[in-house]
Amino acid sequence: MANTTLGKALGAPTTINKLHPYHMAWILEGRVIRKGTIHDYNNAKGEGQILNFNVIDTLGDDINVTCFGKAAAFYHAKIQEGTIYRISKGTLKYVKVGYRDSSSPWEIMLGMDSILEICTEPTTCIPTTAFHFTPISAIQQMPLGTTVDVIGAVTFWSEISKSTRKDGSSTQHSTITIKDHTGYCITITLWGVLCDEANQILQPQHDQPAVEMPILAVRKAKTTEFRGRTLTSAPSTQLFVTPAVPEIESLQIWLTTTEASTSATPLSTQAPVEKKIVDIHACTSPNANEQIVTIATIIHLNMENYCYPACSRVVNNKQCQKKLITGPDSTWHCSKCNLSTTTCDYRYALHMMVEDRTGTIWVTNFDDVALTLLGVPANALKEQTRSIDDLWNIIKQVLFHTYRFIFFVTPSTYKGKEQLSCTVHNMTPVEQDIDHTELVAAFLDGTE
Ligand SMILES: [Zn+2]
Repeated sequence: MANTTLGKALGAPTTINKLHPYHMAWILEGRVIRKGTIHDYNNAKGEGQILNFNVIDTLGDDINVTCFGKAAAFYHAKIQEGTIYRISKGTLKYVKVGYRDSSSPWEIMLGMDSILEICTEPTTCIPTTAFHFTPISAIQQMPLGTTVDVIGAVTFWSEISKSTRKDGSSTQHSTITIKDHTGYCITITLWGVLCDEANQILQPQHDQPAVEMPILAVRKAKTTEFRGRTLTSAPSTQLFVTPAVPEIESLQIWLTTTEASTSATPLSTQAPVEKKIVDIHACTSPNANEQIVTIATIIHLNMENYCYPACSRVVNNKQCQKKLITGPDSTWHCSKCNLSTTTCDYRYALHMMVEDRTGTIWVTNFDDVALTLLGVPANALKEQTRSIDDLWNIIKQVLFHTYRFIFFVTPSTYKGKEQLSCTVHNMTPVEQDIDHTELVAAFLDGTE
């Protein structure tokens, strides 16, 4: 019985997604898609040489193969990019999340006693590349967090910016914009070492002329939303300049057309979902990126507490804007700048209640949105010279008016109770019929 199982395992090649360390007698038929160079290393365990290469299987999944010392030189001399090999007797080593550059959680370690031989008659067809390109225009419709491969001409490539993570550790990021034959462009945010890698591969080599728009393939980037649909790098993301893929030719031809020379359209933000207020309340686990459209009427503005003192200190041409804490002797303190101040910049955090036929909800307008709505900056509204009449004149321009709101809904807790926090992203007035306008005018006049 055991013999049969072993015979089967040795006879039929396995696929990368079925590899695990308790399955010893595997055979993998795979094509070498990337042959790395031999690197010298020097660490606590001593010094030596290391070789990495990548293999893909019949399903298009890939795995990293690592060889040390003698084996590094041995396999470097033996393997060729593009060739299919039968690999067995390797050991599997777990690769921590964040260090992976393949779809597998394992990497294969090959030693001198492992077997790697050319496979002239593979049992199944093995793709020549691990790319599954998605046209840029199609990325708009894909769910957030989907892994995609894209290829396009680089139209913009930013400097590397350093930033600090929430846990205080530092990281770096850069952005690259590419466009393809669909006439759309997309921005990819690269994180960590990938920024340096992009700089290296996009930099013209000193013996070669600079390419105006190098063609870049990005493998395994993730869809996300940041002022429209964009891509972000993941630990498994790989970059390739002018890879040997059939898509290159059609892209190069397209780049010579007049259509390609005009600017490409960036992907827009995902279309917001239209919801009634009752449905917003019923929404228990809102997606933080989800935008909701609601047509509703403003029925109350909280003018008792509509703004907060913000730090007016300007650093690197940017205003700090941190909410100030009231200190002693009528001063304020900015915890970000660690400074006490007597001046401040008032910014809106205007809470208002809106209503549709199904219910009411409290929503918050931050500075830009509230300024567009009321037409006066919070500083001006806060001026003590403003009379109650002035305030009322401003409020009645929006009170009982109906708008098409775009909200961001996020879960939050208030006094230990879970609730939804609804922030207005944008609002546009909805045309009202004359009867309604007259009714509102009559009502407001009556209250004056
Ligand atoms: Zn500050």
